[in-house]
Amino acid sequence: MYDVVVIGQGLSGMLAAIWAKEKGKRTALIMSGAGKILQSTGVLDLIPGSDGTLEDWMKLYQMDLWVKPEVMQAVDKFKLLMRELGYAYEGDPGHPVPIVTGSGHIKYTALYPETVSPVPGSGRAVVVGFRELADFQPSFISKNLQNDRPGLRVSALSVRVGAESRRVLTQLDVARLLDQEDIRENCLNQIKNELRHRKTGQPDFFIFPSSLGYKQWPETLRRFSEALGATVTEAPGIPPNATAIRLNNLLKLKAIRSGVRFYGDTTVIGANRDNHTIRSVIIRMVNRTTEVAGSRFILATGGVLGGGLEVLPTGMRETALHLETDSQGRPVNPPDNLYLAGASRGEQLTRNGIVGGIYTLVSSYEAAYGACKPVRGGMKNA
Ligand SMILES: Cc1cc2nc3c(=O)[nH]c(=O)nc-3n(C[C@H](O)[C@H](O)[C@H](O)COP(=O)(O)OP(=O)(O)OC[C@H]3O[C@@H](n4cnc5c(N)ncnc54)[C@H](O)[C@@H]3O)c2cc1C
Repeated sequence: MYDVVVIGQGLSGMLAAIWAKEKGKRTALIMSGAGKILQSTGVLDLIPGSDGTLEDWMKLYQMDLWVKPEVMQAVDKFKLLMRELGYAYEGDPGHPVPIVTGSGHIKYTALYPETVSPVPGSGRAVVVGFRELADFQPSFISKNLQNDRPGLRVSALSVRVGAESRRVLTQLDVARLLDQEDIRENCLNQIKNELRHRKTGQPDFFIFPSSLGYKQWPETLRRFSEALGATVTEAPGIPPNATAIRLNNLLKLKAIRSGVRFYGDTTVIGANRDNHTIRSVIIRMVNRTTEVAGSRFILATGGVLGGGLEVLPTGMRETALHLETDSQGRPVNPPDNLYLAGASRGEQLTRNGIVGGIYTLVSSYEAAYGACKPVRGGMKNA
């Protein structure tokens, strides 16, 4: 019997499990697949695809119960966690900043890892690609960035990472290669030689694919910034982005090390209830069906893209616990001991149909906080 059972291992499930465990709760996490975080850029957006403000965000997600200090508390908690894990996140949802993506376009984001820097409005920027990496084309990226940022003087160059491979490399392959000192130094020498040859002066800003180290990113970032004498950023784009993989892996490792019990390759297919309370969830593991009992449950199964909601001709269907939902997928009158985190709340409100990282982390904090409260305080969903 667990105090808290979390269903889903996306960003929301992992954060909620870590925070429940931190409160001393016996915590289990049941997951049937990877979270969408692995396909993301690893930066946490306020309103994906928009430069909206915190006030716009609060209106969009109907956060009328929320006031700014509580949102900031969740954000501070996340930043503290990531600093502790050695992969610090910067930024402030009150002031989204422009970053460059792997297509060269600007997007506004609220929280970004230390390997990403906001794009300046002026100065000289160089986009550096790796010839073996097809998903990051420096000349295409530099043209788009030049259009979006006319005050910058943008140029492009490519170097060889020097890997023999039968297939085209991904950003993650390059990140792993750049963990090796000799490969890093070789790339840096090629960049410096090319710049010397061009005689265009000292750049202020270097833009790389999301590949600046897999495990050795602090060293790669430090060495690149130092050797190039300028600010260095990763521009996340087509997955896999090293920015997102680091975030996912570090959160999973943290959850395991803190003692969260993982049920891997396990799907929740229903729940046993007493009136308005869930007693246990029914799980399917390979060819076995059993149950996991708990006092409180956190639903973090994602939205339509994560598999937690299914679109039917007649509306939406919640797939894990078979909850009744409204037309947006929001559960109607959920059980008293169930808390909803991330996209499972059915808030598919942005242009891209995704809720964005800030909503995910704030709702996970709220769900973990609710699931760890003493019973006397009531157990209502927000
Ligand atoms: C392609 C893509 C790119 C994105 N890029 C960005 C970005 O750049 N910046 C940003 O801020 N946000 C981005 N987002 C949104 C961001 O990742 C969301 O914050 C996130 O998807 C919501 O996380 P979640 O944990 O609620 O759901 P998900 O990540 O969808 O995780 C749900 C988890 O639940 C599991 N699950 C589902 N049903 C069951 C079941 N019955 N039993 C057990 N497990 C189950 C799924 O397998 C999955 O592991 C992106 C989303 C997508 C889809």
